[in-house]
Amino acid sequence: MPVNEIRAPQNVCADQLVAAIPGVIFQFHRAHNGHMHFPYLEGGAAVLKHVDREALAKNAGELVEQLTGKDHPKIMSAIERSARWMLPLTTRFRLPFPKANPHWIAVSAQPEPVNDGIRWNGIMMDISDQVIEEQRLRKLCDTDPLTELPNRRKLMVHLTQLASTSSRHGTPMTIMMIDIDHFKRLNDRWGHLHGDDVLKQLAVKAKSLLRCEDMVARLGGEEFMVVLPLTPLQQCHTLANRLCKTISMHDFGMGEGHVTLSIGIAEYRCGEPLTSLIERADQALYNAKDSGRNCVCLLR
Ligand code: GH3
Ligand code: MG
Ligand code: MG
Repeated sequence: MPVNEIRAPQNVCADQLVAAIPGVIFQFHRAHNGHMHFPYLEGGAAVLKHVDREALAKNAGELVEQLTGKDHPKIMSAIERSARWMLPLTTRFRLPFPKANPHWIAVSAQPEPVNDGIRWNGIMMDISDQVIEEQRLRKLCDTDPLTELPNRRKLMVHLTQLASTSSRHGTPMTIMMIDIDHFKRLNDRWGHLHGDDVLKQLAVKAKSLLRCEDMVARLGGEEFMVVLPLTPLQQCHTLANRLCKTISMHDFGMGEGHVTLSIGIAEYRCGEPLTSLIERADQALYNAKDSGRNCVCLLR
């Protein structure tokens, strides 16, 4: 006989057990007329100390809206999907906590049709620590460790989203392809560690010269890209010229004029593949190198 079929000792009461577990067991009911309530809600999680269980037992509609805050539309559509297809309800939401950060709560429940609507039997767990760890790993995945700028992966995700918005709304978007001039020479002369320091300082300086909605990312080596949403080519040109000039006059620790940039810029054409936008900016960057470096070129 499997171990878990052994009956609980007589001194263990199921109600006491449920009240002590570090989670919540619940029944949630939604009537055909949309009325929602929790016929059962029990557990030992701290979450329950901050919710009005009696109110939830009578009418959960408004309270669920308050308790799920920004995540309310997501929760409601997860409930709707689960109800329509009789699929397990699995979602997560942020539960506001008094004088503290919201807690992340995971919900997992199985729907079943009942006479007057649908009933879910499920569990909720506080997964805040897990979400913090996920966020830390995601940041690690998306960030260049040297400069702490977004990396190529993060940039491509962002660029894809912006291109889709730009295509949908017909709004302008431009990119700058940036390459440090003669960086190999700089490394050879001042040392690789100093080269690293130049890359870090450049990241800070570039961010300070651009707008907060513009994303500066390190593509690799001494190459960077800036994505400028809602920015036509002419405006991007002005910003790139300002960046180029300011960097050429900045002292990176070995006197002015030792670090210069070549920049190629291009504007997104509604609906084009991102590869062709990047190719145009790349070609413009080559033109800037060919024109003697420390300058900006554009390709229409
Ligand atoms: P150009 O003006 O044509 O761009 O010349 P360049 O010397 O900048 O270009 P090249 O591609 O010949 O050399 C790039 C150099 O960048 C070579 C490489 O050692 C250096 N580099 C790449 N990544 C790093 C890094 O993380 N730290 C440092 N210090 N140097 C790096
Ligand atoms: Mg290069
Ligand atoms: Mg270079």
